Amino acid sequence: LTGRLGDIFDRLRRRGALSEEDVGAALREVRIALLEADVALPAVKAFVAGVKEKAVGQEVLRGINPGHMVIKIVHDHLVELLGETSEEINLSATPPVPVLMLGLQGSGKTTTSAKIALRLKTREKKKVLLASLDTRRPAAQEQLKVLADQVGVASLPIIPGQTPVQIARRAMETGRLEGFDVVMLDTAGRLAIDDELMAEVVEIRDATKPVESLLVVDAMTGQDAVTVATNFNERVGITGIVMTRIDGDARGGAALSMRYVTGKPIKLLGVGEKVDALESFHPDRIAGRILGMGDVVSLVEKAAETIDREEAEKLARKMEKGGFDLDDMLSHLHQIKRMGGMGGMLGLLPGLGKVKEQIKNANLDETVLKRQEAIILSMTKQERKKPDVLNASRRRRIAQGSGTTVADVNRLIKQYQDMSEMMKKMKKLGRKGLMRQGLS
Ligand code: GDP
Ligand code: MG
Repeated sequence: LTGRLGDIFDRLRRRGALSEEDVGAALREVRIALLEADVALPAVKAFVAGVKEKAVGQEVLRGINPGHMVIKIVHDHLVELLGETSEEINLSATPPVPVLMLGLQGSGKTTTSAKIALRLKTREKKKVLLASLDTRRPAAQEQLKVLADQVGVASLPIIPGQTPVQIARRAMETGRLEGFDVVMLDTAGRLAIDDELMAEVVEIRDATKPVESLLVVDAMTGQDAVTVATNFNERVGITGIVMTRIDGDARGGAALSMRYVTGKPIKLLGVGEKVDALESFHPDRIAGRILGMGDVVSLVEKAAETIDREEAEKLARKMEKGGFDLDDMLSHLHQIKRMGGMGGMLGLLPGLGKVKEQIKNANLDETVLKRQEAIILSMTKQERKKPDVLNASRRRRIAQGSGTTVADVNRLIKQYQDMSEMMKKMKKLGRKGLMRQGLS
């Protein structure tokens, strides 16, 4: 990779690396923030150690102090650990699909069962049956029936005197006979983990073979989150976590603790008492809340954006001068890779709607970028400088040399031509015009 543009970009970034002292100092702050957010100590320790290893030696963005840089790295690492994408309820099994709701008393199991039923009904048009297996708390079964009526979902008729396992079997049987897609099994909780509770849910699990076993945990749960999550995961086995009462003051550190001990995804968040107060889990939001350093994170993101903008501007200047050849395209492809795809890059270049769409549609993923790189590298110096000489026989040779097809080579040349076209437009617009339209 020799392009001049590539060099410029590299120089912009190389402003010294994070030293062990930089990282150590910032991580002391982070440690306190995590403990204040009620993340359990073992999870804090593991997290801080992991980030330390990751951060030392990383480059500091221009205009950012090392401490802030570490916070941004911490934030990104936290998002990654919390799970990068939000996962939904897994219903891939022959209906009726059993979903088991687990957790301590008062964690929000019954409310969440109704919320999930409503979500599956409205979003996925599923026919859901709600069944309460809570024979301990007086009126627990009636509570679920009231909620079921409220969300317009069926509930299993209450037959007094049945054990939880008997109710679970009857629920599954009803589900089969009456053509339900999903059967939600709402179990009883206890104030703390005890063997009787575990034995009961294990028996229910074995009788129903749930596809999802969701652990419902109150966001206020502090250090206990580790005990609760570990016990349910090891003794019953969970497939995901729902965190409730995220509408309260809790910073949600339990999310990190539970993820740390179980490795299971946090799937949903309870955000209020109402039956529609249920949201998909967004790791970046919870990460921001746990760290409580959102200002720092956005500051660093802004600095990164400024640098990206400057790079785009440099590229624009180069384009303006003309003479954009395939070597430049190669450096450009590297930049695209770094900036996370063509969309991000082109988002910075104004007034090019049609070309933007075209290139976006070309679906520039990692493998495509690699293939394009191989094609350009199989060309001679002269071919890269003067793409006009690329006749049919040269294209065949390049395809062979790069392990691609002539169609791939043609596509790349077409794309190069599109880009040259884009440059001409930019030239017409003029750099001043570009700046005004969004590059500044
Ligand atoms: P269970 O014992 O686990 O079944 O818990 P419940 O579903 O009966 O909930 C206990 C209490 O917490 C009820 O008063 C619910 O309204 C309330 N609750 C449940 N989820 C949430 C939530 O996400 N936010 C708030 N603010 N309250 C909730
Ligand atoms: Mg309940």
